[in-house]
Amino acid sequence: MAQKICLISLGCSKNLVESEHILYAVKKFGYDLTGDINDADIAIINTCGFISSAASESIRFIIETGKLKKDGKLKYLLVTGCMVERYREELLKEMPEIDAVVASSDPEDIVRAIKSIHDSTKLFDIKEVENIKEYPRILSTPSYMAYVKISEGCNNNCSFCTIPSIKGRYKSRTIENIVKEVDTLSREGIKEIVLVAQDTARYGIDIYHRNAIADLLRALAPVNGIQWIRIMYCYPEAITDELVEVIKEQPKICHYLDMPIQHCSDRILRSMHRDSSRENLITIIEKLRKNIPDIILRTTVMVGYPGESEEEFNELIQFMKEMRFDNVSTFAYSREEGTEAYNLPCQIKSKVKTRRKQKIMLIQKEISYNENCKKIGNIYDVLIEEKTSEGKYRGRYYGQAPEVDGVFYVNSKVDLIPGKFVRVITKKANTYDLEGDFYEKDGTCQ
Ligand code: SF4
Repeated sequence: MAQKICLISLGCSKNLVESEHILYAVKKFGYDLTGDINDADIAIINTCGFISSAASESIRFIIETGKLKKDGKLKYLLVTGCMVERYREELLKEMPEIDAVVASSDPEDIVRAIKSIHDSTKLFDIKEVENIKEYPRILSTPSYMAYVKISEGCNNNCSFCTIPSIKGRYKSRTIENIVKEVDTLSREGIKEIVLVAQDTARYGIDIYHRNAIADLLRALAPVNGIQWIRIMYCYPEAITDELVEVIKEQPKICHYLDMPIQHCSDRILRSMHRDSSRENLITIIEKLRKNIPDIILRTTVMVGYPGESEEEFNELIQFMKEMRFDNVSTFAYSREEGTEAYNLPCQIKSKVKTRRKQKIMLIQKEISYNENCKKIGNIYDVLIEEKTSEGKYRGRYYGQAPEVDGVFYVNSKVDLIPGKFVRVITKKANTYDLEGDFYEKDGTCQ
């Protein structure tokens, strides 16, 4: 009887794609998959470790899963992912419950590690490959949506970030390979693809020697069956006029952009090694809104960066009030070993960081709510995801990315099918979610 493997995927959507490759590899080599850790013979944890809190969460999962080896059916525990890239020696020394640590971007190295687990090799430290290995995957997302990772690594070297040291330099997949994959996904019924990378705006910089994200989008737009193409993690300064143009001209590309700005103070942006400035951030945002009036903008900001004064924090507050982003993720600066910012003077006390984070989130709640209220009366195509226990349907319109943004509740007397798009007239709004009525083509509400 085949051994059963349970994979726990932590962290971001890019890590999830890697987990999906691992699922395919272990299945290909004859292992069964189970979603129930208590039913598994072998557990694989694909860790996250780019900041300490993520690393702590990974350690918690390793400890909890390790306990099952004593009590239960579980025989082996393998650990891979970003935490391994940062702390492989510490993991081996301090966590005896781990049977193997696999530092590799080749999903089949996990299988090799499983097969040789008996010979007590604990560290499988495979050198980084030059190019991203094209490899099939078993999707773990709903049947109508898939993340598509278009590149690995990052060349930006922001002073607070560990990712370049974990994932290395920017490595793009070719346009041909990505189109081939998306074509396969559309044949499997995928309607929405979410393009992810550390920095999608710089896609192609290594293999095409220019930002080729606009070319990639033009190549993806004709793929039959795909109805939504969404772009996440878009580095603001790398947003070109060409990219704005292609979002405007190609109807399948969601008028939605996730573009992390981190801050708006010129001094702090310089210290972060972000080639941004307050002025050109405003220019980019105005250019996007002028060319694509219904664009929905998500961003990420960081508070409590070393040396951030009350004035600079208030400058960020003012900037958020003026720019009125639709959705915002707020992070408190996390002091990470191996980053340049780790050694900066004037590290901010955590209670100050917490206060600043809460203040930004409070202000943003009001902005998100007011922006949502402006949508009442509008008619949108909503991708239905499921029926709720209250009898409503839950879905998303183009302005809501999976997992990170709000949702759209739909009232309908007729049955709606998950994975299908329906027309909805917006009736209610709250801070993050919208609600509306199913809107028949003939304009009647059902
Ligand atoms: S762009 Fe993002 S992933 Fe790249 S170094 Fe900066 S914060 Fe890290």
